[in-house]
Amino acid sequence: MFDKILIANRGEIALRVIRACREMGIQSVAVHSTADADAMHVRMADESVCIGPPPGTDSYLSIPAIISACEVTGAQAIHPGYGFLSENANFVQIVEDHDITFIGPSAEHIRIMGDKITAKDTAKKLGIPVVPGSEGGVPDVAAAKKIGADFGYPVIIKATAGGGGRGMKVAQSEAEMERAFQTARSEAKAAFGNDEVYIEKYLQKPRHIEIQVFGDGKGGGVHLGERDCSLQRRHQKVFEEAPGPAISAEERARIGAICADAIAEMGYRGAGTIEFLYEDGEFYFIEMNTRLQVEHPVTEAIFGVDLVREQIRVAEGLPMSFTQDELEINGHAIEVRINAEKLPNFAPCPGTITQYHAPGGLGVRMDSALYDGYRIPPYYDSLIGKLIVHGRDRAEALSRLNRALGELIVDGVDTTVPLFHALLQEPDIHSGTYNIHWLERWLETNL
Ligand code: ADP
Repeated sequence: MFDKILIANRGEIALRVIRACREMGIQSVAVHSTADADAMHVRMADESVCIGPPPGTDSYLSIPAIISACEVTGAQAIHPGYGFLSENANFVQIVEDHDITFIGPSAEHIRIMGDKITAKDTAKKLGIPVVPGSEGGVPDVAAAKKIGADFGYPVIIKATAGGGGRGMKVAQSEAEMERAFQTARSEAKAAFGNDEVYIEKYLQKPRHIEIQVFGDGKGGGVHLGERDCSLQRRHQKVFEEAPGPAISAEERARIGAICADAIAEMGYRGAGTIEFLYEDGEFYFIEMNTRLQVEHPVTEAIFGVDLVREQIRVAEGLPMSFTQDELEINGHAIEVRINAEKLPNFAPCPGTITQYHAPGGLGVRMDSALYDGYRIPPYYDSLIGKLIVHGRDRAEALSRLNRALGELIVDGVDTTVPLFHALLQEPDIHSGTYNIHWLERWLETNL
């Protein structure tokens, strides 16, 4: 059993892991950059180590600094959170070479799923339905045009090494192909240092539905239903809910079983998410994330499980604390991402928090590292909090969201809270009839 875990992250997710450790009687070690010396995760952890200057590349992404912090403090395991080094197979390998446990899947599984082409191939072999498209990478414009002609336009050109919605371009017709192909390539090169791209049929009105999976690393695998994350801006999620308003119990059971079987067959360890686009009753795999996701709390709410605790348990070699049959959905949960951003352009808005008050009451969870007087540094992503509400049904969750947003006070910086107040006025949000394009279109006319 672990006595001490190091959390290689910051912000709300570091707090999330520290809380799980404390409930399990495990000591926690925070790491931080010089810009985060006053951060809440540093205050809340049992110990802390400064690992470098403000830029992420010199601190939260510095593998030698993190390994040293582990050795200095005697931490036996590392929880990577999300982002930063959480899906870096090389990091996992180095951690294991130092006899430290990585709380997450094997380096090999991270590597396979981190390359979108091998991920898609693997998914296909495991019986998971995928988006129709190119077999592997597409070398040049001529090959791209051939695929466009074969599958029919529109198509989407995507970076093999992609993530965070970058390096993706849609071509509506052959005339647009050359430009879209070259732009996707150069964006991919700039963002990921790898210009390989592949092509998929562009689905016109899908929902983004992702299945939460969990494996014990020994051939056991379960699914914890879906999350609908269709409300996106620039391919980034802003509002997530579970269960999905458009998914029936039969569909959930069908796609869930396919995913759980795949996880079992892989011998996958820990939490993962298999992402799909869902259109006209069909699921199409787009990628797998081999980490805990930002939106995991909505799944925790409806199943009443602690996913971080489970991650730690299976990393220790213990079995999962539930079986598929024991997992039952209870009510409905919604998460909204509160970013320090100025509307209407969502420009990052770092600054000092003059007043912070978290909402409370039945069915309300606020995961945030904010406090009065906290200075949000400009170096990291703009997520400053996640408000999660849980109700007996979707209507109750929505009215609870409205009530909780009304209680929340974040003064001193601009935030995305007004966006959610406005969305709650929309009939489509109440009826749950939206797809991945709904928010972008709404933003064009409403902000
Ligand atoms: P990333 O890893 O960069 O987040 P994903 O492959 O997960 O990239 O795709 C992110 C989002 O891009 C999806 O949720 C969806 O909105 C859009 N997208 C991706 N592939 C397609 C496709 N084939 N057709 C339509 N939209 C797509």
